[in-house]
Amino acid sequence: DGTVRFEDVHFAYDANRQILKGVSFEVPAGKTVAIVGPSGAGKSTISRLLFRFYDVQQGRVTVDGQDVREVTQESLRAAIGMVPQDTVLFNDTIAYNIRYGRNDATKEEVVYAAEQAQIADFIERLPEGFDSMVGERGLKLSGGEKQRVAIARTILKAPPLLILDEATSALDTQTEQSIQAALDVVSRGRTTIVIAHRLSTVINADQIIVLRDGTIAERGTHAELIAEN
Ligand code: ADP
Ligand code: ADP
Repeated sequence: DGTVRFEDVHFAYDANRQILKGVSFEVPAGKTVAIVGPSGAGKSTISRLLFRFYDVQQGRVTVDGQDVREVTQESLRAAIGMVPQDTVLFNDTIAYNIRYGRNDATKEEVVYAAEQAQIADFIERLPEGFDSMVGERGLKLSGGEKQRVAIARTILKAPPLLILDEATSALDTQTEQSIQAALDVVSRGRTTIVIAHRLSTVINADQIIVLRDGTIAERGTHAELIAEN
């Protein structure tokens, strides 16, 4: 069902500096939890632990009740969809980039995902920089369009668990709002962790966790946290 649990997680990249100092929270299946806090607080570290880029030193991280240390990185990558701050595209068509990770997907499925993300018009074209051999097929993508490619990839992958890591922070305000709307659709009914700098971008989260200096300083809904501050 995709329930994620962090139980008293302690983590340090190197022994003399603790990054997470006893972090506990649950993301119930199908719900959205936002992790908000200043740069360096340890937010992205939480997603790296979920993917097992690193293992916790104390406490545990579970998905569906299973300790991630008992799961291979490969199957974690298959189960988790990630929309990062900056999407890096491969040297191939937009359709290829959408299909990446789902090689079994049909053309119709790719087109449907592209339509949902509103990039169906240019899926046969290539990202700029890779167009020297093909001339006019090359396409310069804006930051928002690149995020739409990542969103289409996520729609096609349909992972049980979704991580949005500062997915709109590199965009201008107007683009941010339209990408936010697309992300809201993708995350609906899906277990989702949103990593963000500001409370104002995570108004719809079921719960918000404020991480400061490796510990949870506050938690609650947007309305509750606004009322307290
Ligand atoms: P946030 O996402 O909240 O900005 P991070 O989780 O990326 O914070 O990083 C938390 C702290 O860990 C930062 O001080 C950062 O410098 C440090 N850090 C991140 N990655 C590494 C790493 N691979 N090795 C050592 N320190 C790291
Ligand atoms: P962002 O904050 O844009 O998500 P990262 O998560 O990659 O960027 O890094 C967060 C912070 O951790 C940055 O300040 C970065 O310099 C630092 N950092 C990342 N990797 C390392 C590393 N291997 N060693 C030390 N610091 C790192």
